[in-house]
Amino acid sequence: MSRVLVIGAGGVGSVAVHKMAMNKDIFSHITLASRTKSKCDAIAESVKQRTGVTIDTAAIDADDVAATTALIQSVKPALVVNLALPYQDLAIMDACLAAGVNYLDTANYEPRDEAKFEYSWQWAYQERFKEAGLMALLGSGFDPGVTSVFTTYTKKHLLDRIDTLDILDCNGGDTGLPFATNFNPEINLREVTAPSRHWENSQWVEGPALSHKQVFDFEGVGPKNMYLMYHEELESLVKFYPEIKRIRFWMTFGDSYLKHLEVLGNVGMTSIEPMMFQGREIIPMELLKALLPEPSSLGPLTKGKTNIGTIATGEKDGKARTVYVKNICDHEEAYAETGNQAVSYTTGVPAMIGAAMLLTGKWSGAGVFNMEQLDPDPFMDMLNTQGLPWTVEDLDAPLAF
Ligand code: NDP
Repeated sequence: MSRVLVIGAGGVGSVAVHKMAMNKDIFSHITLASRTKSKCDAIAESVKQRTGVTIDTAAIDADDVAATTALIQSVKPALVVNLALPYQDLAIMDACLAAGVNYLDTANYEPRDEAKFEYSWQWAYQERFKEAGLMALLGSGFDPGVTSVFTTYTKKHLLDRIDTLDILDCNGGDTGLPFATNFNPEINLREVTAPSRHWENSQWVEGPALSHKQVFDFEGVGPKNMYLMYHEELESLVKFYPEIKRIRFWMTFGDSYLKHLEVLGNVGMTSIEPMMFQGREIIPMELLKALLPEPSSLGPLTKGKTNIGTIATGEKDGKARTVYVKNICDHEEAYAETGNQAVSYTTGVPAMIGAAMLLTGKWSGAGVFNMEQLDPDPFMDMLNTQGLPWTVEDLDAPLAF
């Protein structure tokens, strides 16, 4: 029985808080705080209606370390779950250290002026969390998050040695809108427009963004174009699994999405370089974000499924083996349960499970941890019982590309 403070009232925060309320035995008291308190109150109302549980709400600017520290001291949680934006990670980690409380997030820290997708800033907190006897769990979403747990499970139970790893992320959902991003548009567009990068023979191989495409037939969705991309869990997987010779990340995009993205890129709307407009400085990407639909508004519109998994090749008991571990999640079912579409659902549920791992003591330690460092079994068990069931399938052969 533990108190938890969740920061961030977007789609992911909404799902996590709904699922925490459905697990009252673990989360005895929930406070949701975010920049706009009315969004917290709307989520609290939905949680009350769906689960009967009352949660507290508060306004907070999480960039303000002193204010966040004071909020943590007044709520007295055992854990702060950061579901705001990657820009807030370090400020919230600082506030957790100041208040003496454990920390969890779903995305690595990003400076506002540069898209980096790297853990260096947060790994630099290792000694401070260790000395304070506190745990910081990084990247407890789906990817990063579940994909790393799938890999750790593969190594523990399915393969003695992993040679190659492919992460396949398919969102087969359709909103009916010509262009919308399914999580925070600014972070999503930064990720998609970054150069591709994968790990091969002990080094990073870079290429232009969205330049390498393959067709894959996703169960529950059908054949889709997927593109080689960089994604932040590649960095921690390379660090914790030096045996893996090649690690790649693939994500599906529809032609209409890519056509819009190309045009927006060509006219400069996806730039994060500040520019002067009518006497004031603006960042084109932030203006674009303001024009696009909020991901949390897409719930009632989205139909179809997500299918995210890992395909690993290697050896088991002296024989070559290829295993595919995956989850399929239905947008409409996710919406019916929590009022949010499957991309928020597949991130918010693992955030809740990561929080449950810490609060129940199934995962513990002092310092900064990535998901690969922890026992996959209790997390995998909870995926099955909390709405993200997974399957393991033996493939006849490795991927042909
Ligand atoms: P949204 O943009 O929908 O929500 C973000 C929330 O954070 C909003 O409520 C926003 O408030 C709040 N916020 C922003 N800045 C501050 C601040 N300074 N102080 C307090 N609150 C703030 O994003 P999502 O819910 O889609 O995503 C949440 C996080 O999850 C992101 O970090 C994203 O990168 C990550 N993510 C991870 C995935 C994974 O699989 N690992 C997949 C998808 C997302 P306001 O409404 O006032 O703007």
